[in-house]
Amino acid sequence: MPRAVVIGAGVAGLATAIRLQIKGYQVDVYEANAYPGGKLHQQTQDGYRFDLGPSLFTLPHLVNELFELAGESPEDHFRYTQKETVCHYFWEDGTRFQAPAQVDQFVLEASHAFSVKPENLRAYLKRNKSKYELTKSLFLEKSLHKWTTYLSRNTLKALANLAQFDLTKTLDQSNRAYWKSEKLNQLFNRYATYNGSSPYKTPGIMSLIPYLEMELGTIPRWEGCTL
Ligand SMILES: Cc1cc2nc3c(=O)[nH]c(=O)nc-3n(C[C@H](O)[C@H](O)[C@H](O)COP(=O)(O)OP(=O)(O)OC[C@H]3O[C@@H](n4cnc5c(N)ncnc54)[C@H](O)[C@@H]3O)c2cc1C
Repeated sequence: MPRAVVIGAGVAGLATAIRLQIKGYQVDVYEANAYPGGKLHQQTQDGYRFDLGPSLFTLPHLVNELFELAGESPEDHFRYTQKETVCHYFWEDGTRFQAPAQVDQFVLEASHAFSVKPENLRAYLKRNKSKYELTKSLFLEKSLHKWTTYLSRNTLKALANLAQFDLTKTLDQSNRAYWKSEKLNQLFNRYATYNGSSPYKTPGIMSLIPYLEMELGTIPRWEGCTL
């Protein structure tokens, strides 16, 4: 049996180890921490649970895929439900906004709460979708270690649309170009926290995350995760 060594038991290391084992490798995983999960970790204090990294997973179909590849039913290990409200926003002046998970409802309620036209919100969300659609095959579905990746039609299409990605702007600058409402700007800047970044440093392409959250769904509530 061929052998493989995986360094790190974060989500990536664990997923890689599972895939290698399915391919017939005997896999050893080495982890520096005393627990698996990497950034996917939590602390509890005074009865409250604090997520240290992700509080939800985007692209839930990829989590399901991993279980299915291993011949397991995701529901036997990993139960989750889709929440109706994605996030509760609170401001110091007492303003509150509950962001609905359903995109039409989000547009309706956000346009009312932040006094913006629904069509402007839809245009912003459409641009986010385009950022994701143009980059997913390059960054998520193909190996960057193969030269054929760089010569594919999709890559050339992405390069032709490079200006759309807001790579030279921060997420905050990219959002400010859309919104006069400071609160709406803060709401969309929040997506930088999806990888622990600052909206003042992370590039504007991060605005594709709301698309993942609103249109592709998330795994938001951990119930009986066996990790
Ligand atoms: C604050 C924050 C919020 C986030 N929120 C979300 C979210 O809501 N949704 C979402 O999908 N993503 C979110 N992310 C991103 C997500 O956490 C990461 O993309 C993901 O956890 C990275 O997994 P990984 O396996 O690549 O790396 P890591 O989780 O960093 O795992 C790497 C592992 O390797 C180990 N390691 C490193 N070097 C060695 C060595 N030499 N020997 C042994 N072990 C080693 C480390 O100890 C660690 O356990 C968030 C990240 C942060 C920081």
